[in-house]
Amino acid sequence: MGAEFLSLALPGVQALSPYEPGKPIEELQRELGLDEVVKLASNESPLGCGPCALKAVGGALNELARYPDGGGFNLKQALSRNLGVGTDCLTLGNGSNDVLELVARAFLSPQHEALFSEHAFAVYPLVTQAIGAQAVVSPARDWGHDLEAMAARISARTRVIFIANPNNPTGTWVDRETLEAFLDAVPATTLVVLDEAYFEYVAEATYPDGVSYLSRYPNLIVTRTFSKAHGLAGLRVGYGISSPEVADLLNRVRQPFNVNSVALAAATAALSDTGHLARSVAANAEGMAQLEAGIQTLELPCIPSVGNFLAIDVGRPGRNVYQALLRKGVIVRPVEAYGMPQHLRVSIGLKAENDRFLEALEDVLRDGSC
Ligand SMILES: *Cc1c(COP(=O)(O)O)cnc(C)c1O
Repeated sequence: MGAEFLSLALPGVQALSPYEPGKPIEELQRELGLDEVVKLASNESPLGCGPCALKAVGGALNELARYPDGGGFNLKQALSRNLGVGTDCLTLGNGSNDVLELVARAFLSPQHEALFSEHAFAVYPLVTQAIGAQAVVSPARDWGHDLEAMAARISARTRVIFIANPNNPTGTWVDRETLEAFLDAVPATTLVVLDEAYFEYVAEATYPDGVSYLSRYPNLIVTRTFSKAHGLAGLRVGYGISSPEVADLLNRVRQPFNVNSVALAAATAALSDTGHLARSVAANAEGMAQLEAGIQTLELPCIPSVGNFLAIDVGRPGRNVYQALLRKGVIVRPVEAYGMPQHLRVSIGLKAENDRFLEALEDVLRDGSC
């Protein structure tokens, strides 16, 4: 087959390594013939979605033949009330990853730079490279974002800065004062994307609410998602909150029906189910305490995390421990692609799942299978 055209793909695309998602439960079941598989690999909510969202999904099934509301009216109304921003500040996405990509498409070009931190969320380099823009990676401090170091790397070509607060896979976060100093230092011609995928989980008193800065910094875009604390990862709904002018640009590059009708209905219902959200957050706090205590017993260091996951230093190649855990039916996430070859990222599960992980980890570290 003559396939000379393959070399015509954009250089950035040719050099891309695809995002490595968590291994699906069914895949491991097929491979190992295991029934009981525990997946703590994708920061999913162990409680699942709430009863209101589930009911809304049922209702939406009657309308599957129709296109979704491309403007997402109901969800935007609900978000607007919830966040205290105008509906014209909102951009809905097929997951918040979609919004990150819209930002790249709207604002980056091969002549421009995107700035993000070492160990930051993998989607930032991906969307940057796919556009052919230059990635500038700023060194981390104590595994987390060093905003002073990042500010020092802003150039005249820096168009977009991505900050995950808290960051995945490290769980590290920046406080209000540090973030404000940074935003003050960023030129008005550079956009800052503040990725708050884990916002709902964070209880720290000095954790900044990105939305409260929007009126002061028109170059700020905050992204959030229904994938984590709301337990709707499978439906893919996220959103950006920004100035109306930025939202208008993002909505121009958005596919007209990027969020499907079932997802729109479920997310709208989930937003009003404060009970389920509170249960999800409380279960996470309990599970985090359980996991931290278990890891301490195993005398392994971990990075203090305010998300729904924990990065554990296993003191040897994480990939080997990951493989050994797979053989015991436990799926976690190796993170060498994030420059963390000795860490594993483990999502907080239900009590029994966390126990199962801790036992399996103790076994594989002891029996020399990794
Ligand atoms: C999970 C995650 C997202 C959200 O992904 P969705 O596309 O909304 O499912 C965004 N940013 C970070 C840092 C994440 O960990």
